[in-house]
Amino acid sequence: MKLTPTFRSILLLFVFSLSIAACKTKKSVSDSTPQSTPQDVPMDTDQKTQGEETEVNFPEKNSDLDDEPYDPTQDQSSNDSKDDPTLEESIESVINDVFKTVEDAVDDVTNVIDDVIRGGVQDNYDWSKAPETSTDSLLHKYIPFRLDADLSHLSANQIKIVGKLIDAAEVMNDLFWYEAYGDKNILLGSIDDPALVSFAMINYGPYDRLNGNKAFINGVKDKPAGANFYPADMTKEEFEASDVEDKKGLYSFVRRDREGKLYTIPYHEQFSSEVKYVSNLLAECAELAEDPGFKKYLELRSKALLNDEYQESDMAWLDMKENMIDVVIGPIESYEDQLYGYRTAHEGYVLIKDMAWSKRLAKYAKFLPDLQRGLPVPAKYKAEEPGRDTELNAYDVIFYSGDCNAGSKTIAINLPNDEEVQLAKGTRRLQLKNAMRAKFDKILVPISEELIDPSQRKHITFDAFFSNTMFHEVAHGLGIKNTINGKGMVREVLKEHASALEEGKADMLGLYMIKQLHNQGELTEDLMDYYVTFMTSIFRSVRFGASSAHGKANMIRFNYFDEMGAFTRNPETGTYKLNFENFEKAMDSLGEKILVLQGDGDYNGTATLVKEKGVIKSQLQADLDRLSQKGIPVDVIFEQGKRVLGL
Ligand SMILES: [Zn+2]
Repeated sequence: MKLTPTFRSILLLFVFSLSIAACKTKKSVSDSTPQSTPQDVPMDTDQKTQGEETEVNFPEKNSDLDDEPYDPTQDQSSNDSKDDPTLEESIESVINDVFKTVEDAVDDVTNVIDDVIRGGVQDNYDWSKAPETSTDSLLHKYIPFRLDADLSHLSANQIKIVGKLIDAAEVMNDLFWYEAYGDKNILLGSIDDPALVSFAMINYGPYDRLNGNKAFINGVKDKPAGANFYPADMTKEEFEASDVEDKKGLYSFVRRDREGKLYTIPYHEQFSSEVKYVSNLLAECAELAEDPGFKKYLELRSKALLNDEYQESDMAWLDMKENMIDVVIGPIESYEDQLYGYRTAHEGYVLIKDMAWSKRLAKYAKFLPDLQRGLPVPAKYKAEEPGRDTELNAYDVIFYSGDCNAGSKTIAINLPNDEEVQLAKGTRRLQLKNAMRAKFDKILVPISEELIDPSQRKHITFDAFFSNTMFHEVAHGLGIKNTINGKGMVREVLKEHASALEEGKADMLGLYMIKQLHNQGELTEDLMDYYVTFMTSIFRSVRFGASSAHGKANMIRFNYFDEMGAFTRNPETGTYKLNFENFEKAMDSLGEKILVLQGDGDYNGTATLVKEKGVIKSQLQADLDRLSQKGIPVDVIFEQGKRVLGL
């Protein structure tokens, strides 16, 4: 972990005074003890750890303390003046006690720092209390969920790897803070209310991600669309007219020099000490790794962070198959750059693969080529061959950090994003099972009890929720990556709307896949389970508001489905009832519409769709408000990390 300089001094002072206090207490018991000064031991490890900071901002946790704990017996064996066994025992016990006290103190302080500086659930906020103030209501949009997993099947080396990966992933929190906002410490230091500090930590900045990125701290201006990737005062006209290097770069910041001219700085230069630290940790994990595929991936990823060239490591990530542990780390998604959608944000996931579930999921990937051919669009919009070497796995997540941990939490991922890698090797879809279960139990079911017609509530099932999410991910692999008219990559042409449209596509084509597989007898559950659960999930997702690509995609879909009569609302009960036939018609036609917009690279058409349909109308808003009034949370936050896992 890394500490701020101020906090470091406080920590040192605190540890020091505790040591002294402990010494004083014990000295009265054995005054004549020629003790080795106990504060030397932990003080030294602390200073060693922190002294290295001049070179690297992210010092390694002192490995002496972890692997070879200080052995007070050894120290005493060098002391030849002890002839009284009772005295010797008491000396040992004194030293042990002092060491333990100091170690506990360090642990306590470390934990507090983890919570205050690192993010996650705040110890000082009582989540069990009902919201009383408006700040409470903000926080109660979230519900804490403990992110633990069974690690008992892992080897000692694998457990070590998990710990190091969590350390590495933690750094992503800081990088993402900078990308999303700027200086975290200045912001947090300026907030008095601890609850608001917690809320800023959840949002990685002073903007409420579940409310259109509105500032929730007085005096803070609205969030710039380009977050901190571009100068706040830069206009689109200025950027587009400029000849700045690496203009559409995925891995650089755009900055302004003293003369006011725009320039770019690569992530690995901006974050040079941080990426070195993370790179070292990944290299250490590579050494410990037994699975050759995992080892190679870790080695390449470790190097990639130093120059922001990720392609080779992405390829290696897809090549590894048998690893039980996985890590997704680095600058990955471009949602945070809402100005252009070019620049990626740092994040980290540490994952434990669920081997049994993964086997069950693997079989669906082989249907992709057939499903691509069957898409309900003219042939030219489905000419690309989806990667055959595609893979679908289930995982329990044990750590989220950075982008994926900000505001609403991701429950499934489809990576890598590099289209060249996708065309060469396909993608891997990661279903995050424990996180999905959290959202299903704590959010989706309570929503259905409020908004879904009682006769259709029996169709809300975890299996359907899991499948819908899974097929959404698979469906990202369908359709096309390049426009059909030579305009270039879909993602570049559709700019800031690309993500929302891509998410919309995945949702519609995911349902299309379910329908097809159901028709082929591959899925046997009632189609209504999938549709009603999907419909309920729209309410869940629409609550994420306008600030995320998924949120926008969901609003477009809701309004489109409304116009198509896919559901009706009972004005007396305020519940929604799905109309099976119209629902299927709506999903097919919206899917087709999106595929055509993407294939044509129709920026204006997409912008119009987002503008007209990407809004929450008043009736829906009133229904969503009912959910909030009932105290149904919008999303989860995770109690997570080494402590939760007992590492
Ligand atoms: Zn998606």
